[in-house]
Amino acid sequence: PAPILTATALRKVYAGTPALDGADFAIAAGETVAVMGPSGSGKSTLLHCLAGIVPADAGTVTYAGRDLAALSDGERSALRRREFGFVFQFGQLVPELTCVENVALPLRLTGLGRRDAERAARPWLERLEVDDVTHKRPGEISGGQGQRVAVARALATTPRVVFADEPTGALDSLNGERVMELLTAAAQDSGAAVVLVTHEARVAAYADREVVVRDGRTRSLEPAGR
Ligand code: ADP
Ligand code: ADP
Repeated sequence: PAPILTATALRKVYAGTPALDGADFAIAAGETVAVMGPSGSGKSTLLHCLAGIVPADAGTVTYAGRDLAALSDGERSALRRREFGFVFQFGQLVPELTCVENVALPLRLTGLGRRDAERAARPWLERLEVDDVTHKRPGEISGGQGQRVAVARALATTPRVVFADEPTGALDSLNGERVMELLTAAAQDSGAAVVLVTHEARVAAYADREVVVRDGRTRSLEPAGR
């Protein structure tokens, strides 16, 4: 299938030092690609460029045929709200909101009212097996539950691409595996592509294939096999 998101010859320099220097990337709808590499190799920078969060200094990012650099800031943020989902290492749930309110939040940002957004959020809490904490706040649940709520929140807007940056990095291996199982299954069901940044081979094993970043350059590997 044709890629939904591609990057060509990306270069990004921070304070005179290239974080990316000739990075290429492509992902198809429904595909999960692990972005691997040691700490400081440029994985997060690649993710930020792919998601249009930071502009590349050179090279091109194309999403669904559109050059991200050619969009206005408003168009890029609308794209992120409507078509991308994000999961970070530390769930980054809003502490004042209950779990269902957290999952409903991105739906409200797309214009849904509170009642409709929460109604749409509930099945995602069930799908991620955290419906038992629907009305709890992030401070009252475990780290594994929090990450599953964060995955529910990322998927609730049915994004075309999910960006997951070390989504299991703060979890023990058992909880990490469960999060990966649920994330990849739910993304597959909704046809979303997943860009999975990780430095752990055990986590990358959930991906269809791997891309390794080293010194700001990318290299494709054969499928890891699940
Ligand atoms: P990784 O995700 O593989 O750990 P990063 O993409 O976070 O790597 O970082 C790559 C390099 O770019 C590192 O040397 C990091 O310190 C630097 N870097 C990343 N983001 C910034 C930033 N916003 N400002 C300055 N330097 C940055
Ligand atoms: P990760 O742990 O996922 O690799 P980082 O800790 O590298 O993420 O980055 C977290 C945030 O800090 C990102 O927005 C990144 O751009 C920024 N950042 C990373 N390294 C630096 C740096 N050396 N100076 C300033 N900001 C940085």
